[in-house]
Amino acid sequence: MLKNDQLDTWDRENFFHPSTHLAQHARGESPNRVIKTASGVHIEDRDGNKLLDAFAGLYCVNVGYGRQEIAEAIAAQAKELAYYHAYVGHGTEASITLAKMILDRAPSNMSKVYFGLGGSDANETNVKLVWYYNNILGRPEKKKIISRWRGYHGSGLMTGSLTGLELFHKKFDLPLAQVVHTEAPYYYRRTDLAQSEAEFVAHCVAELEALIEREGADTIAAFIGEPVLGTGGIVPPPAGYWKAIQAVLKKHDILLIADEVVTGFGRLGTMFGSDHFGIEADIITIAKGLTSAYAPLSGSIVSDKVWKVLEQGTDENGPIGHGWTYSAHPIGAAAGVANLKLIDDLNLVQNAGEVGAYLKKTMTEALGDHPHVGDIRGEGMLCAVEFVDNKAGRTFFDPARKVGPQISATLLAQDKVIARAMPQGDILGFAPPFCLTKAEADTVVAATARAVKTVLG
Ligand code: PLP
Repeated sequence: MLKNDQLDTWDRENFFHPSTHLAQHARGESPNRVIKTASGVHIEDRDGNKLLDAFAGLYCVNVGYGRQEIAEAIAAQAKELAYYHAYVGHGTEASITLAKMILDRAPSNMSKVYFGLGGSDANETNVKLVWYYNNILGRPEKKKIISRWRGYHGSGLMTGSLTGLELFHKKFDLPLAQVVHTEAPYYYRRTDLAQSEAEFVAHCVAELEALIEREGADTIAAFIGEPVLGTGGIVPPPAGYWKAIQAVLKKHDILLIADEVVTGFGRLGTMFGSDHFGIEADIITIAKGLTSAYAPLSGSIVSDKVWKVLEQGTDENGPIGHGWTYSAHPIGAAAGVANLKLIDDLNLVQNAGEVGAYLKKTMTEALGDHPHVGDIRGEGMLCAVEFVDNKAGRTFFDPARKVGPQISATLLAQDKVIARAMPQGDILGFAPPFCLTKAEADTVVAATARAVKTVLG
């Protein structure tokens, strides 16, 4: 491997990195890191630093790094058949098998899976399917999509609009007009501190009802939401939230898209977040955990209800005008088959639930009483620590102080543990691989407590 200076120069001269301060990076003012290899929950950079990745890449390497079973399945597929398209009824053993494995695991009202490459394109597909659905049903005006503030659904044109984070809208002329946002189910950040959880859920429902009333139910096609808010702050919903929201959607004949890009295939300790919260979605988005990121692959799982209308649409209009060159790419599909098999064989969904609960419990024991730790929350193998200036008054730090990023950087520098400073608020996020052991969880917690002490005392 090329040594430091050459790669560093090439990197800064040639590489346009996603979600990066471009100017600082190009000028060499911000650190870069070249990752060389990885195994289990650890990644290693070219300088030999071994880091415990408590965010599984971007909450995607769910089975952990270095799984030879998946690497070998990818290699075997590449040797036998690296590519053929899936248009006009073509398939491969891997893509057909994977579709069956997904449907075997998905909620029982699901019917078919359309394959894409990443979570963003899968959600673009979902919006197109919803629009097509309403056109076929003769309701061409029923097209708007409701998303939540702090939701994350990708960074394309439509999906960047669905995403309810300022950074993804600012200077990009987003959101598009067909997208409207409603209250995030974020109890800790409620405006009225006197509200109980149940009252806050009632408030979220009232906000949604008011939005539908304002826009007109006959203009609204779908509601999209992550079972647990991810990039918006790792926020499990308050009890009863999904039941109450679904009742409103049913009443107004609004489809529900469950974005399970993070929660699908075990992160909450159940196969799908929909199972976990009793969500009956019309479409489910999957990506990340489908292949544990060993190859790019995503999917839109559509319910019987939606599928019937899509069939009707093609009977009336001919083949569906939607497809990517790389839909159901055989290498991604082979990775998916091997990955889902591994998750079963190693009982990783159960481990995610058990060790995830342990991580949250021990994090709470270590940091719950800290005067600047306002909230520690999580569900399955997802955990977050939110920092506040004043705990009793629940006032937040000035964002310019960058408390979250500082703690994350300190954690890395002191103890070589990776946790993510979430993009909006001083929130440290954890989403380790499902194979995390309790001993590794202990390491993460001890290192986090040390980093918090260094930065906040
Ligand atoms: N949906 C959710 C819930 C996500 O967390 C993400 C990515 O983090 C996406 C969609 C977008 O996926 P991708 O980055 O693969 O396009």
